[in-house]
Amino acid sequence: MKPHFCRPVLYISTLLEQASNVDNNHDVYPMTALDEITLRTPDALLNGLATRQVISNCLPDFEDKYELYACDIQHILISIRIATSGNIIEFEFKCPECASIDSYEINIQKNLPLLSAKKWFTHLEMPDFVLTFYPHSYRIQNDFALLKFKIDRQLFQLSKLPNPEEYTGIAIQLVETKTKLTLKYYSDAIQSITMKQNDIKVMNRTHINEWFQQADTSQQNQIIAFIDEAIKETYLPNFNLTCDSCKKNIEIPMDMDFSKQFRDNIMFLSEEEILESLEKMGKQITAIREDLMKSVWFMRGSISYGDSLFLTNNDRKIINKIVEDNMEASKKMGMPIF
Ligand SMILES: [Zn+2]
Repeated sequence: MKPHFCRPVLYISTLLEQASNVDNNHDVYPMTALDEITLRTPDALLNGLATRQVISNCLPDFEDKYELYACDIQHILISIRIATSGNIIEFEFKCPECASIDSYEINIQKNLPLLSAKKWFTHLEMPDFVLTFYPHSYRIQNDFALLKFKIDRQLFQLSKLPNPEEYTGIAIQLVETKTKLTLKYYSDAIQSITMKQNDIKVMNRTHINEWFQQADTSQQNQIIAFIDEAIKETYLPNFNLTCDSCKKNIEIPMDMDFSKQFRDNIMFLSEEEILESLEKMGKQITAIREDLMKSVWFMRGSISYGDSLFLTNNDRKIINKIVEDNMEASKKMGMPIF
């Protein structure tokens, strides 16, 4: 439950609601210290719980009332980002060409209206069939992403072994499993197949899965391309930047899902590098907790430690400013600071 000092900053309707002309208003709260801790908890990031937890904390409607759909994730996470720290994302990027590190910024508020889930509700006309679709639930998308991550990570680890050619058999098996999972993932997004010849409409999940697994590659590719296009519309467009030093143009995909970012970041790291980055996250959590303890101490017990976990970053900045001002005033007057 949100403490009384937390107020929603934005109200949004989801892309799925917009696409189906449902008028809804979901409260969007800024992230709190608790969310910042969650976002530095490796296991929660790896299994996708971190993203779900932050969403249910910041959009309480999604805690129990509504199911989360993958097509809404980016839109919701951008809204949370805006509610927490405004419209601009600033980030540093290392140029893959010349290795120079520069700062860039992107206005996410300006790009938010570009996102849409409308394509999910159109149909795909093929020579013999007409297909309709339905977006994946976040649970299905995340389960698939996690399995895919585990396979890709194993393939990467095999490639780093002293004699990778000895493991070709295992690698082929892994790739086959990944292909099967991928086909299943895409077929899960097919809502119905209507055969033009006799106008029979198939909606049974098992039949749809079987049909899709056996369809010829060109049909599969056409359907996959359609679904990819529908997914792409629910994401921010790729960010185009030009390196200041070498003038190379680089396109960066924008994915706001914390769990996806975490998996991408550790995918090609060595075990030691992963441990190092986990240690760094542990230290960041300690720093946040120390900062909260300091607030609790200096607020003279008016905020409990439990309350302090629900302070936003802005709240904490204000409290830290009060603490500093008090210290300054006490020093000037030569008073002891407790
Ligand atoms: Zn460069």
